[in-house]
Amino acid sequence: MAVDPNETPLMRQLQRDHERRRELEGAVFEPPAQTRIFTIANQKGGVGKTSSAVNMAAALALGGLRVLVVDVDPQGNASTALGIDHHSEVSSMYDVLVDDMPMKDVVQPCPDVENLLCAPATIELSGAEIELVSLVARENRLKNAIAQLLEDLDKAGARRIDYVLIDCPPSLGLLTVNALVAAKEVLIPIQCEYYALEGLSQLLKNVELIRTHLNPQLAVSTIMLTMFDGRTRLAAQVAEEVREHFPDQTLNVTIPRSVRISEAPSYGQTVITYDPSSTGALAYRAAAKELNERAAQQG
Ligand code: ADP
Ligand code: MG
Repeated sequence: MAVDPNETPLMRQLQRDHERRRELEGAVFEPPAQTRIFTIANQKGGVGKTSSAVNMAAALALGGLRVLVVDVDPQGNASTALGIDHHSEVSSMYDVLVDDMPMKDVVQPCPDVENLLCAPATIELSGAEIELVSLVARENRLKNAIAQLLEDLDKAGARRIDYVLIDCPPSLGLLTVNALVAAKEVLIPIQCEYYALEGLSQLLKNVELIRTHLNPQLAVSTIMLTMFDGRTRLAAQVAEEVREHFPDQTLNVTIPRSVRISEAPSYGQTVITYDPSSTGALAYRAAAKELNERAAQQG
């Protein structure tokens, strides 16, 4: 059987990358009406939470928006990927959550991307999970800190932050609860692999609990399919199943499995700066554009 060379998966990918590059070149994103606050959540580890948080953040910033990544995972992977100093003496989200330090005193600019900020995590945060238990308003501390930061920036006449993306640890402790109370929207990355949907109903139940008791505004607004391998039947099946369950929330753009995405953090970079024209970078930029445009549609 003759194979049309224009119809091979590689050709299709090259074609799509080409179209994306053209569409994204010099693209300026429309700022949302209000600051959008997302928590990137999934209690499974290794599903692409941190990669999605930092790469979406960098892609939004590249589109001209002002973006803050809040790292509340004691591992500090998001801080590392953004090239932010987070050794144990650095002021971090630990000081904010446990010692009431204002967030404006811990936020650092990302060295490689204009308009991208990061509130880093240090290893001290691993103790916060326990220390928070005895503090007043223990579930609301991040929410209050972010509100204070936005107010402080406003008073100082600084440019408004358009997006806040909170990167969570892979568990449902008080740090993640704080993140879910602080956000209005939840972005769930789903890995297109075996067992991808396992644990999802638990996550949705937890979001529902937070909504009922602590944060009535919370909604799962966005689901993102990550580590998609177009060559496997399984990835397509998982994607199809997710889209069936969450037709309104699932982004059209899927993030491919890409070596570039996994390499970038070891250089203290996002894939957006590490290899801007790679398939992975283009996918995150297209996903960021879609995420931003959906907000405009939803009002
Ligand atoms: P989480 O924050 O949910 O634990 P990470 O974003 O740290 O997940 O990703 C887990 C691992 O998978 C990391 O080593 C990361 O570099 C890698 N990874 C994430 N997304 C991709 C992708 N699209 N393609 C290839 N590797 C990826
Ligand atoms: Mg992570």
